[in-house]
Amino acid sequence: MYEMRAGPATTSSPGPVWHVMAERDGCTTLCGRNLAAGDPLTSIRQDALTERYCSLCMTAVQEILQVQKS
Ligand SMILES: [Zn+2]
Repeated sequence: MYEMRAGPATTSSPGPVWHVMAERDGCTTLCGRNLAAGDPLTSIRQDALTERYCSLCMTAVQEILQVQKS
């Protein structure tokens, strides 16, 4: 449903995290970052990534889902 894209972490923690892309334009994350498709970080091998997700994006998705349910 939502495209995940690896990008720099929004917090001070090092390394990439998974962000959730906004549906409207495909190059903005739900946490407000600009993450174009050509971002070098997207070429990182998936197995090189941790299982970490952007907490701001996760919160945004949960809020969206709750709105859709009600
Ligand atoms: Zn994010």
